[in-house]
Amino acid sequence: MPTLIEKAGIWAKSSVLAKGKYDSPMSKQPVFDLHCDLLAYLAKEPGANVMKSEDIGVSLPRLQEGGVAAQVLAIYSPTSAGSTDFAQQQVEHFLTLTNRNPQFRAIRASRDLEPDDKVAVIASIENASGFCEEFGPLKPGLRLLSAMISQVGPLAYISLTHHYENRFGGGNYSDNVGLKADGEALLDFLHGKRIPVDLSHASDALAHDIFSYIDKEALDIAVIASHSNFRPVCGHVRNLPDELAQEVLRRGGLIGINFLRAYIHDTEPNKLIDQVAYGWALPGGHKGLALGADFFSALSFPFPDRLPLFFPEHAHAGTYPALLKLWKSRIPTLSASDLAYENAAEFFRKLWDSRRD
Ligand SMILES: [Zn+2]
Repeated sequence: MPTLIEKAGIWAKSSVLAKGKYDSPMSKQPVFDLHCDLLAYLAKEPGANVMKSEDIGVSLPRLQEGGVAAQVLAIYSPTSAGSTDFAQQQVEHFLTLTNRNPQFRAIRASRDLEPDDKVAVIASIENASGFCEEFGPLKPGLRLLSAMISQVGPLAYISLTHHYENRFGGGNYSDNVGLKADGEALLDFLHGKRIPVDLSHASDALAHDIFSYIDKEALDIAVIASHSNFRPVCGHVRNLPDELAQEVLRRGGLIGINFLRAYIHDTEPNKLIDQVAYGWALPGGHKGLALGADFFSALSFPFPDRLPLFFPEHAHAGTYPALLKLWKSRIPTLSASDLAYENAAEFFRKLWDSRRD
């Protein structure tokens, strides 16, 4: 069994650093990506290692190839018994990467958002089942959330659900299930804590309810969609209907473009350009559109009909420079630097540095 340190690529580092083998990320447009599942891959797959580009599109070599200067590492848990243990394993991987692998560093404050030649990472929680099991009282779950934050630092966001319904509300595939009492309690808890709520896995009903509850209770909570495309361009429940996309942007939130084939088109990779163009043209899109490619590992992926998960043109983080060039050539008004980095960085600067009187 490989140890956490081996998985974090420490022993492979001398070969990575061999002079000239990889461009410095600083020689490219820096990229800030809002979502990947590297931690779940490291926690779950036997033999997993951050150097294995054949396993996952966000290996360290791919991140460096793509100029990824800031990457959100999701702590993902399915809603099932043991969800909090699985999340804790991912916390350990986050700490090992940031403390033991010199190619990574943790983002803990605004000053850490300045790109350099490392991959700066920040954790997020994809599904609140990561800190709260489905059955039992809520309070210990909220205490565990606080403990996780004290371990990994500020969170980029929390999503209440994954694909399916849980104690907090409805997921993408649970149509009419909105915000539940525990979801309201979680939002109350998040008030003023500068942790955005992520709508990418919310049912439409849950997303509407989250906005309504925030307004009704006058809660100070930012709302984003970290890895979602636009439903008018590709009619999948994981993509945002217009009214939700516009509401996220109207409130100063971010929407991260997702690279998964299922949320783009069955056969046509260039439909991803249409997603970028659509988001860019929405009111507030120039400041709210960002990237959230959603690279995860196809190893032990249970739905063979969804393979390949990604088109070869955007199958890994190393494709970012070519994609940004292509998008800029097709969308004349596009600011590649704002889309790729600045919009996300500015969102977190504002979130963390604003005064709360
Ligand atoms: Zn996801």
